[in-house]
Amino acid sequence: MNSVVTTDSPFIVAFDCADLAAANQLADQLSPQLCRAKVGKELFTACGMAVIDMLHSKGYEIFLDLKYHDIPTTVAKAVAVVANAGIWMVNVHASGGHRMMSAAKDAASQSNSTHLIAVTVLTSMTDEDLQLTGVARSVEEQVLFLADSAKNAGLNGVVCSAQEAQQLRQRCGNDFLLVTPGIRPADAIADDQRRTLTPREAIDAGSDYLVVGRPITQADDPLQALQQMLASLNG
Ligand code: C5P
Repeated sequence: MNSVVTTDSPFIVAFDCADLAAANQLADQLSPQLCRAKVGKELFTACGMAVIDMLHSKGYEIFLDLKYHDIPTTVAKAVAVVANAGIWMVNVHASGGHRMMSAAKDAASQSNSTHLIAVTVLTSMTDEDLQLTGVARSVEEQVLFLADSAKNAGLNGVVCSAQEAQQLRQRCGNDFLLVTPGIRPADAIADDQRRTLTPREAIDAGSDYLVVGRPITQADDPLQALQQMLASLNG
């Protein structure tokens, strides 16, 4: 764990890989000095802690994107494992409630370097989808409501779309971390992301960390794609 690098790059690359060999190759193509690594459900389900150990050994700080949502004790125990493994960031669903988030926060505090953030409303959900789950608020209202509840439970921040970042920054203050997917360079295709922002636009809107997958992972030269995105922040 001593070799893990702390970078001031805002980029978190989504390692949406199917297996350990593919993740290993991507880790070698990129650099922990220039980005962090996000491990999601597919890769973690396929590899378990082996992928965490591999990325740590190569110097990467890790965002474990497993979006925990369960009874408070169960979530707290899982987050304690994450914190003890030295993982930099992990998330839970804010809709799991105050007691669940608060128990998770206590568990994350076992490591002073594990950031605990919340998912508010999945960006795949529409107002109608939300109503079908019994929530009468609009998506926008529910995002703000759940961000407030994450902050009240002591969480470090939320995952949010870049469109929500400005409002959340004003509402939740400068210390609240905003982690934003749906980032595309100005000249890139959007893939299945509906509303995308460039890295510069997302930072200007108040995002702290930018989650980028395919524009980097599917590039012929992932390192060069990352370097171009970093350079676009200074342009
Ligand atoms: O390839 P792309 O840049 O679209 O990847 C974005 C990553 O962020 C994926 O791992 C995706 O699951 C994740 N994500 C997202 N939108 C959210 C939350 C997470 O695209 N609202």
